[in-house]
Amino acid sequence: MPPLTFDMFGFSQPILSCLAALNYSEPTPIQSKAIPAALEGRDIVGLAQTGTGKTAAFTLPTIARLAEDIPKTKKRKIRALIVSPTRELAAQIHDTVKRFTPKVPLRSTIIVGGVSYHKQKHALQHGVDILVGTPGRLIDMIDQGVVDLSEVETVILDEADQMLDIGFLPAITSILELLPKERQTMLFSATMPKEIRKLTNNHLTNPVEISVIPEKRTADRIEQKVISIGQKAKMEAISDLLLEYEGEQIIVFTRTKHGADKVQKRLSVSDIRAAAIHGNKSHNQRERALNSFRRGNTRVLVATDIAARGIDVPGVGLVVNYDMPEVAESYVHRIGRTARAGESGVAISLVSTEELGLLGDVQRMLNISIPATDTNGEPVELEIPRSSGKKQPFRRRKSGGGGGQRRPRGSDGN
Ligand code: AMP
Repeated sequence: MPPLTFDMFGFSQPILSCLAALNYSEPTPIQSKAIPAALEGRDIVGLAQTGTGKTAAFTLPTIARLAEDIPKTKKRKIRALIVSPTRELAAQIHDTVKRFTPKVPLRSTIIVGGVSYHKQKHALQHGVDILVGTPGRLIDMIDQGVVDLSEVETVILDEADQMLDIGFLPAITSILELLPKERQTMLFSATMPKEIRKLTNNHLTNPVEISVIPEKRTADRIEQKVISIGQKAKMEAISDLLLEYEGEQIIVFTRTKHGADKVQKRLSVSDIRAAAIHGNKSHNQRERALNSFRRGNTRVLVATDIAARGIDVPGVGLVVNYDMPEVAESYVHRIGRTARAGESGVAISLVSTEELGLLGDVQRMLNISIPATDTNGEPVELEIPRSSGKKQPFRRRKSGGGGGQRRPRGSDGN
């Protein structure tokens, strides 16, 4: 029987009081399974999506283990390394580490692209116990001799399948090869494509395998609708939806960076507080946009797939697919931005005739038929082609997550 309270893991009082302050009363299923194994120092392969509480599942035991043995020396060496595919996810993980360590004397920092080297080097020279970073910048800093991995005891690879999609696999492999052989390795991934399985076989030792398929898949908790519409009428439909869903915060997904900017500008002209996040925005711009959205100062966040994946913003009532995603699995990630933490949510896809094939890919993957209306709300029967003709990589019917298009190495996605 897995533990039902955090006390049962034997965490120290500072950690327990911090969990209580955050209202974490009960561990989530992945936490119940991963924390005891991680505390024992076991390697872990976790098949889990965001929203399952996986960040705490790997940060809490890591913090607890490091806190047991805090070096007396002033100059700290990196003992835990957490690698994440995107800057936003890295920032989110680092925030979680900070939230759990206000009363634990461990130091942490984050190194990601798009931020000045100077500041990051300064933090590292000061000495940290926990380092969170993205693969590209990590490799840069290792090459420059600023990051020393010789004392790493625990390494965590989060969203491994997304790292593969972005083209970070060679960077990850290089990093793993630089780490001490005696170490704990945890790898989390929403899907398990064969490249990730191979990485696991080559770099983990006798790992505990943990799989958390949400009781009711997020997609099932979300009310999904399709509006059949011409491409040119989509902007007007967004304005109508903003009225219909008054008071709700909304994420609008576009296929391209240019499309995201266009929608954001059109909304801003109509005095709607909107921000866009995509790969052409600087780290600071993305952070500012996300924080403003989290605080509720921005009502509409317009985003491309890679920029928004894994981003956890509670209280998003509506997700709109302005463009249908080219890869069906992105649909699951997109709509999963609503209905966080067991809440309900609505996902509306604006589908033009040209996009019917992509809608078909989504329906086949989820094995559902999404009800469709015209712009007046009248039900319509759509003629869905048998296939969009787009290659759908890493399709996993049951897990409902992961996948995506491969991108060249070093690309920051869109
Ligand atoms: P994650 O899957 O790590 O992105 O976590 C999803 C959300 O669940 C985050 O907002 C966490 O703060 C929250 N969360 C994680 N674990 C718990 C818990 N045991 N109790 C309550 N909330 C949690």
